[in-house]
Amino acid sequence: MAVSFDLTEDQLELQKWVHEFAADVVRPAAHEYDEREAFPWEVLQEAAKIGLYSLDFFATQWFDESGLGIPLTMEELFWGDAGIGLAIVGTTLAAASVRANGTDEQVGQWIPAMFGTETEPKVAAFCSSEPDAGSDVGAMRTRAVYDEKTDEWVLTGTKTWATNGGIADIHVVTAVVDPELKARGHASFVVPPGTKGISQGQKFLKHGIRASHTAEVVLDECRIPGDCLLGGREKLEERLARAREGVQSGRTQPSMATFERTRPAVGAQAVGVARAAYDYALEYAGQRVQFGRPIIENQAVAFLLADMRTSIDAARLLVWRAAWMARNGQQFTAAEGSMSKLVAGETAVRVTEKAMQILGGNGYTRDYPVERMARDAKIYTIFEGTSEIQRLVIARTISGVHVR
Ligand SMILES: Cc1cc2nc3c(=O)[nH]c(=O)nc-3n(C[C@H](O)[C@H](O)[C@H](O)COP(=O)(O)OP(=O)(O)OC[C@H]3O[C@@H](n4cnc5c(N)ncnc54)[C@H](O)[C@@H]3O)c2cc1C
Repeated sequence: MAVSFDLTEDQLELQKWVHEFAADVVRPAAHEYDEREAFPWEVLQEAAKIGLYSLDFFATQWFDESGLGIPLTMEELFWGDAGIGLAIVGTTLAAASVRANGTDEQVGQWIPAMFGTETEPKVAAFCSSEPDAGSDVGAMRTRAVYDEKTDEWVLTGTKTWATNGGIADIHVVTAVVDPELKARGHASFVVPPGTKGISQGQKFLKHGIRASHTAEVVLDECRIPGDCLLGGREKLEERLARAREGVQSGRTQPSMATFERTRPAVGAQAVGVARAAYDYALEYAGQRVQFGRPIIENQAVAFLLADMRTSIDAARLLVWRAAWMARNGQQFTAAEGSMSKLVAGETAVRVTEKAMQILGGNGYTRDYPVERMARDAKIYTIFEGTSEIQRLVIARTISGVHVR
């Protein structure tokens, strides 16, 4: 599909619909859930009721030919609130892993189950990070051992930082099947609802996105059926055999494949947070009077707003380009997906900090939302690959050098 900066009627309608939900339902609930640091089940139920939290909705956006369906949704929802936004879209990270690594049968079986129903929504978690394996995915220790006798996989290890970890019905877990092959000896598994041996460890108390649940997930000889290996046994054996022979498969390990697919979407979330703070500061600067005139009449304030808006628009363009490239099968020859997440994440941090400055003392209190937005923004330079890791990926891709 040819690129165009004119949104279609359908896209404008989508943007308006998600924005209304963000403004009417998400934003009014944001302060309370941030203070309580609790998962917003009530808001998720509202989202499920109108079809926003549903496989149908996300599938429609995934298959939007322009690739913009997901970025438009993310930006509007996270404009409402990033913590609640992540509570609503966290499941899609697990779904993306099943899409990237599962067979058609597994996609059909597990992805619909992750969302639950309109009246009883469920969530899913993607568990890759471990205490000693954050940026360094290759250091993963969680083991998956196949038990021929029972046709089961036995998972043992501790996952950390899992969004929805422990409150999810379905957990997607990456684990080591062949330690000698390091990162090429990993595989992904679905842990079905009600499985014994999986439990929530510590729930993290966070700086921001506090409505989103983040926890450790402990796997204690957790037995799952053989067909819960994503992609199936035959494909895994072929992949491992190629890796043992040292043949390049051209594929990255499962968790990396998932991160590549999701980076522009995460960038769009950061754009939403930045825009929320910018919108608030712009209005505030027009109303707040000091020295007998609105503070926006001072260049020092107006130029801050000019820079904020310019950097938000620049970040959005990188996000849209990467999302369009992903949907249209373009080669990421300069790691454009990572670029979009890097710029959007750092823009969110800078813009929210400037918004606090424009609000003065009010910006520093929890009575005004920009303080929460600034706390929320910081996650975008950390998760889904830190800013340093994005730079590493970009540097290696553009140079062909194994930059360290
Ligand atoms: C709120 C939250 C939600 C999360 N959700 C999930 C989830 O759902 N599923 C999941 O699997 N994970 C999740 N994560 C984990 C997240 O992806 C990791 O925190 C992130 O990848 C960084 O890993 P780390 O925290 O271990 O930091 P480390 O890897 O220890 O990094 C520490 C610092 O060192 C830097 N650094 C490390 N290596 C290099 C290098 N080679 N070159 C330069 N700098 C380097 C980093 O950039 C960083 O600044 C989440 C994290 C948080 C905080």
